[in-house]
Amino acid sequence: MALLRSEGIVLRTYALGDTSRIVVVFMRDLGMVRLVAKGARKTPQRFGYALEPMSHGRYVFYHKPDRDLQLLSQADTLNPIGSKLADLARLAHAQATAELIDRLVWGEEPHPELFDLLGQVLDAMTRAPIAALPALTIAFELQVASLLGYRPRLDACAGCGAALSPRRLFSPARGGLVCDRCAAAEPGTIQLSADALAGLALLLSRPVEQAGQFVEVKRAGEIQRVVETFLMHHFQRFRGLRSLELLRSMPGTALDEDLGPSS
Ligand SMILES: [Zn+2]
Repeated sequence: MALLRSEGIVLRTYALGDTSRIVVVFMRDLGMVRLVAKGARKTPQRFGYALEPMSHGRYVFYHKPDRDLQLLSQADTLNPIGSKLADLARLAHAQATAELIDRLVWGEEPHPELFDLLGQVLDAMTRAPIAALPALTIAFELQVASLLGYRPRLDACAGCGAALSPRRLFSPARGGLVCDRCAAAEPGTIQLSADALAGLALLLSRPVEQAGQFVEVKRAGEIQRVVETFLMHHFQRFRGLRSLELLRSMPGTALDEDLGPSS
């Protein structure tokens, strides 16, 4: 058994018995680690904010390679991001990013680029204008998919490499825009509006924190649905972002608009 230490971001926590807590932490050097924090429910002040969802902290723990749960020894808060998410929309979007990592990544395998991206997007979410939150979440989804080897192709047909259909046809299964011929052979193809395609291309091409400066990406709801359908095709454990469901039913969150043209 080794004593390890790593920076991490808390994705979620749940109770273990009456006094302890299980904390799922995405670690910069180790990937996904599930920690048992003994006594954390009895004396929560011992760990400060370090075990709160979305907190960025430094964790010291006893590690056994074949074990599902590792024993936490010490936790220090580096950035209590969760405590800076002052309203419902910010909290929901930040939870959605944590949820995405939780669904798409598993196992103790380091992925520092993904970790840094999560840190950047969470930090941006504490400061971005509310209207820019959907753009931040979508940019994050696209860039996580890209880092995991599923970057959507927008420059030529994702099926055969031919010239694209002028009808802006996106195939979630093929992983990008397609030509008319491939679209005819692919029943799940979605026709994008011009605004949605422009937004998709923009969010895919810029650093994620810049998305927080695009106060409004047109048709964010349409883009969000296309991206989620795409992710569901390629990541079995992903079933859509539940954290955003409440926001979708509320007006004025830029996710409640119509679906747009689809076929
Ligand atoms: Zn094609």
